[in-house]
Amino acid sequence: MTDQPSAWIISVGNELLIGRIINTNASYLARRLTFLGFKVTRIITVPDEVSDISEEIKRGLERASLIITTGGLGPTYDDLTLEGIAKAIGVPLELNEEAYRQVREFYERKGLPLTRERLKMAMLPRGAVPLRNTVGAAPGVFLEVNGRIIVALPGVPKEMEAIFEDEVVPRIKVLAPEMAMAECSIVVKGVPESSLAPVLSELARRNPRAYIKSHPKGHEVEMPILDIRVLASMPNSKDALEYALKIIEEIKQLAEELGGVVEEKHCGGAD
Ligand code: ATP
Ligand code: MG
Repeated sequence: MTDQPSAWIISVGNELLIGRIINTNASYLARRLTFLGFKVTRIITVPDEVSDISEEIKRGLERASLIITTGGLGPTYDDLTLEGIAKAIGVPLELNEEAYRQVREFYERKGLPLTRERLKMAMLPRGAVPLRNTVGAAPGVFLEVNGRIIVALPGVPKEMEAIFEDEVVPRIKVLAPEMAMAECSIVVKGVPESSLAPVLSELARRNPRAYIKSHPKGHEVEMPILDIRVLASMPNSKDALEYALKIIEEIKQLAEELGGVVEEKHCGGAD
């Protein structure tokens, strides 16, 4: 695969650098971007400092087609990501009307006033497009700079994931080489999702071209029923199907070793 666009992930936060939190955002994004056909060439963690953020953004703009930052979009004094981005590309931060509407709506729904700190989340680098955050307050940010794309996402994993899936994926998937998708699924009965979780994360780690997801249908302990799906992406459909099938067979075997009963295997092409 040669014509894969490169992507950088820049994680912002002192909390990451002192080891207080684990950078799950970076691994989530790395996996999803790889799956979507990007080549992730850097994962960098920087402190909550404007100069550090802007330096890495500048470097990234020279070498990557896509830069995604996480963290530092919130209302507090140490949330400086957008300032760092604005500095890197030489534009001011200004009130973005659409972002203002989104932030105002969020706090109105909660019955809270729009303070200066909250308003800060609507101050975006000039030229940026806000990305709707259906989970929290701070909108994500999408920016195009000389044909390169910068995306800024919040640090809270649930918010980061929601904006990425709903707003970023549709905008960036046109940049990556077209991939064929295949999906296989099985139903596992009798194994709690929490028991299968470590097995699935290990498989996901070993198979970056697959997106593995379990959907609990029954009850976690009394009557666990799991619908497990493997979505594989490869340059052609035959390989994608084989890849998905290989992984689902592995899951089947591991689930049976854990005492589960596996029913219904379905495989096919997917969009
Ligand atoms: P907020 O609006 O909550 O301030 P934010 O966009 O400013 O969000 P941060 O302040 O950087 O984000 O991080 C908020 C919280 O999100 C952190 O305390 C941490 O729990 C979690 N978090 C941040 N970065 C990451 C990361 N890279 N991986 C996993 N969790 C993270
Ligand atoms: Mg914050």
